[in-house]
Amino acid sequence: MKLSYSSISTYRNCPLSYKFIYVDKFPRKKTPALSFGSTIHKTLYYFYNVPTPKPPSLENLLNFLNKNWFSEGYSDEGEEKTYREFAKQILRNFYRTNVDSFSLPVALEHKFQIKLDDNLSSGEPCILTGIIDKVEKTPNGNLEIIDYKTNRKLPPQSKIDENLQLSMYYFAAKNIWSIEPEKLTLYFVVPNIRMSTIRKAEELPKIEELILQTAENIKAGNFDPIQNNLCPWCAFQARCPFFKDKFKKTEGSIEIEKVIDEYANLNGQKKLITSRLEKIKDILRQYFEEHNLKQIFSQVNAITLSERAKYIYDPEKVRDVLEPLNLWEKIVQIDNKSLKNLLDSNALDEKTKKLIEEAKELQNITYGLYLKTIKKRDGE
Ligand code: SF4
Repeated sequence: MKLSYSSISTYRNCPLSYKFIYVDKFPRKKTPALSFGSTIHKTLYYFYNVPTPKPPSLENLLNFLNKNWFSEGYSDEGEEKTYREFAKQILRNFYRTNVDSFSLPVALEHKFQIKLDDNLSSGEPCILTGIIDKVEKTPNGNLEIIDYKTNRKLPPQSKIDENLQLSMYYFAAKNIWSIEPEKLTLYFVVPNIRMSTIRKAEELPKIEELILQTAENIKAGNFDPIQNNLCPWCAFQARCPFFKDKFKKTEGSIEIEKVIDEYANLNGQKKLITSRLEKIKDILRQYFEEHNLKQIFSQVNAITLSERAKYIYDPEKVRDVLEPLNLWEKIVQIDNKSLKNLLDSNALDEKTKKLIEEAKELQNITYGLYLKTIKKRDGE
């Protein structure tokens, strides 16, 4: 049996979702996050895959990104464009941080297959597979194993110290190259921060045991679902015993079926319109720029180019001015995102976190609609 970090972590999270993906092989929809991650990985591979220690220029890197952009999964051109700009920003930051210290990697996208010492109880061998993004030399002459992540949020260090993927890469490094990596690193390219940890040789039997145990459970057909914090994004909710009752047919109500189809039609038109509007905006913006104009006319319409500058205030300086006047409280609001980041971090003890959670009140619930075409109409 072959297992990778990804399949093991899927199984440990929810055995039923493992079955849907790896046994039943139900197709999964491409998502922006998947396409975005693949494009960034491919571009970083390009950055380091050179014969001499001379990296490609930033311009070449951005050109490569454009030519090798994965378009699948984005809901419309507007969303894709936002992600593309975001990717360029990430690469600019990555380039700035890494160009001066550029050196040829020891290994790049290294594929491995390791047969575990012990077989399964059935006698079948168990093989760990994977791809290590990059291995580089540390200033001490030792090796650092790096995996790129495109998550926006940084986990606390405790999560890195127990990260299963890094444990498996440590296991792989010891088995393939018989080396003791100095560091195991997740490089979060969005905030452009590396988070590193170490593993010790004494941990190897535990890692091997975890892989074998997972393989035994899969072999035994143990696929009971486990509800977890990824359920809201699970593509198989309609098949899952915990959620399937929420996915009912309309029971023959013609009225609601008409509304469903009207929603689908309008949504399709909206996508076409949004995409055309984006193209037109680009053409107009280019025209304004090339001709150095502020307003242009047709026989019936006029379009003016407006420029909006966005400023941010330095909170400390504003506070220094307003606090002595007792006016600071009037403008301070709780920023939910920052508060959530604070709660997820290690900066607060459990008691304080609990007190903050108790101060939470439900304000409202907003609903989103996810549209999927289940049957093409005749002639389409
Ligand atoms: S919805 Fe949750 S419990 Fe159900 S299959 Fe998906 S991950 Fe498992």
